Amino acid sequence: MPLSDHPHGGCSCQKVSFDLTGPVLFRALCHCTICQRFNAAPYGDVVAVRARDVLLEGVENIAYRSHRQPPIVSRGRCASCDGVAIERLNLPLMPQVYLFPVQTFADPAALPDPGFHIFYDKRQQDHADDLPKSSGYLPSELRFTGALLGSLLKR
Ligand SMILES: [Zn+2]
Ligand SMILES: [Zn+2]
Repeated sequence: MPLSDHPHGGCSCQKVSFDLTGPVLFRALCHCTICQRFNAAPYGDVVAVRARDVLLEGVENIAYRSHRQPPIVSRGRCASCDGVAIERLNLPLMPQVYLFPVQTFADPAALPDPGFHIFYDKRQQDHADDLPKSSGYLPSELRFTGALLGSLLKR
């Protein structure tokens, strides 16, 4: 049941699908090797959205996996098509936030522009843009958490 006036996306077979009914908190480019593998791409390009601002359908088809301890991020693929679908952030004391890979959207051009790069030291290619670039685990996690906190506090 796509809502025509909201960004709509999903896995390749659409057994997992979502509509954003609220604002994108921020968009980030992550060059970590887990995102590279998860997306089968040189980097992950994701938008962060509060769970309450997402109409998620086909939850029973999502197979979540955590790739690193502590499991801050669980990455979900569709159990049917194995397509990339959703990433769930598990941060204590924080509202539930989802990340959606930009390539899962029907119209990625309608999404906000990326705000920063993280794990830039793991990049497969250079990016000649003016965006902040964080390298290494701690600076990258801090940049990401800072963006998350900042965007949540603005609302
Ligand atoms: Zn699917
Ligand atoms: Zn990553």
